[in-house]
This record gives sequence, C-alpha cells and structure tokens, in this order.
Amino acid sequence: MQVFQLISEVKTYLSLQKQQHKTIGFVPTMGALHQGHISLINESKKVCDITVCSIFVNPTQFNNANDLTRYPRTPEVDIQLLEQAGCDVLYMPDVKDVYPTTDTRQFNFGYLDTILEAEHRPGHYNGVGQVVSILLTGIEPNKAFFGSKDYQQVMIVKALVKQLKLPVEIISCPILREDDGLAMSSRNMLLTPEERKIAKLVPIMMEEARDIAKQIGVSAAKSYIHNEVVKVPIMKLDYYEVCDTETLEPLTALKPNQQAISLIAVFVGNIRLIDNWMID
Ligand code: AMP
Repeated sequence: MQVFQLISEVKTYLSLQKQQHKTIGFVPTMGALHQGHISLINESKKVCDITVCSIFVNPTQFNNANDLTRYPRTPEVDIQLLEQAGCDVLYMPDVKDVYPTTDTRQFNFGYLDTILEAEHRPGHYNGVGQVVSILLTGIEPNKAFFGSKDYQQVMIVKALVKQLKLPVEIISCPILREDDGLAMSSRNMLLTPEERKIAKLVPIMMEEARDIAKQIGVSAAKSYIHNEVVKVPIMKLDYYEVCDTETLEPLTALKPNQQAISLIAVFVGNIRLIDNWMID
C-alpha cells in the first residue's frame, strides 16, 4: 500500500493509474478503523481497479471541541488493517494539507440541514461538505463509498455532488454490526465495559420499536423508545424519529407502501451513538 501525506503525491500517483484507464474507488474515513470501514474498502475493491482510503479527523465537522480532542486515533493499527484488506493507497494528511487556508464556504443543503443530526450538531454538515468536496476534488475518484450508518450524511454528500457537479458516483453501503447488534463505530472503543453492555440495548430497542411502529403506530414506537431510555440512568436520548427514506421528513403515521426509516442518536455516558433501522 502506498501511504501519502500530501494530496500532490496522491494526485501524481493516481494520474499514472488514470492514464492506464484504471478506475478509482475512494473511501473517506476519520480512522480508528473497524470492520465497518473495511467493508467499504471491500466494496470498492469489488468494482474499482484502485482503492484509495483517506484518514483525516476533520476539525470543521466537530461542533464540540471535547469530541474532537477525544476522538480515537489508532494510525498503526489502521495501516495494518488497510494492508490486510488490500487497499492500494492511503492518504493521511495533516490539517494544513487539507485546509492550506481557512475554508469559509457555506453550503446550502436546505431542509436536510435542519433536522436530526443537523439540528443536534449545528454546523456539522457544513464541515462534512467542506472536507468531502476537498477530498473528492483532489482525488477525482470514479466512485466514492459511504456507510448507511450515517444515513443523513449519504443524502448530504449526494446533494453536495449534485450542487458542485462533481463527476463521481456515490455508493451507499450497509451497516456492519457487532455480534450483539451494536452498529460498529470508532466511538464504541471509548465506551467503558459497563457502558458497552448498556450500548447493546440500542439495537434491541430499535428492533422492538420498528415492530411497534408497524403494528401499532409511529407515536407508540416513539413512546416506547423514550420510556426504555429513561429506565437506564446513563442513557440520554438526543432524538428518535421515523422518517420518509427519500426526504427524511418525520412521519406521524405509516401509509401503505410508505418507505420509512427510524433514526436514533443516544448518549451512553458521554459517548454519543447513532443508528438507524429500516421499517420495511
Ligand atoms: P467515519 O470514520 O466514522 O467518518 O466513517 C467513515 C465511513 O465509514 C463513513 O462513510 C461511515 O458511514 C462508514 N461507517 C462507519 N461505521 C460503519 C458501519 N458500522 N458499517 C458500515 N459503514 C460504516
């Protein structure tokens, strides 16, 4: 695997590959890699000739300074995992290479940037827009792979690519889960053993709430989640919503043939976890 710290080096390497008509797949990450990230590398390898991964903890998408400072960083293990997965190129820049000057751009993602994660993490998606546009413009991949664990993020990235007319296909990949159902996340490694036991309640509640939404209704599902979370002292609900899969507008009832998704953000201790379950 080629490891580069500068985008100029990545560009030089990839221009040779592009001259040979190789297709480029790109997987942007913030590191502290787990099998969820590796599943994106595998998807890219299936359909592209060259797979590029980036590891960059993007400061502009953190609305909370503490969250940025304590974000896990495990570069040596990350490199090993990517080598084992057969990733071709790793771009591991420092802040100056990504932002030689302050990025003052303000994106307009409309309604999508007012709800759920956007409402609870103001400015977060503007930072995501900044870093993703810089990375996609620098690397110019044919396809870029994102996890549907960050469901709203995938929608934002698709809107970004459309607005900026970037010639890249955005591919949404399934959520990988631990054996007990907890969605894999870099933040899981910050949980204490006691918190980790509590965290596994999240997928259990989400599955039960999905069934309640289908059998009784959306407000019953919401009450169920609120009641379950309140029972656990170290849990605090940020939001739970049932939304239209295409628009992310919150639903109060499921209509026949309605494609719906339930989305949650919940604190376990100080660690904020997100997850989503389709209501099929
Ligand atoms: P992050 O490093 O958290 O910014 O995530 C980098 C990419 O990996 C994003 O597209 C995430 O949606 C994706 N990802 C994170 N966790 C998972 C997971 N459990 N399953 C699949 N993809 C994931």
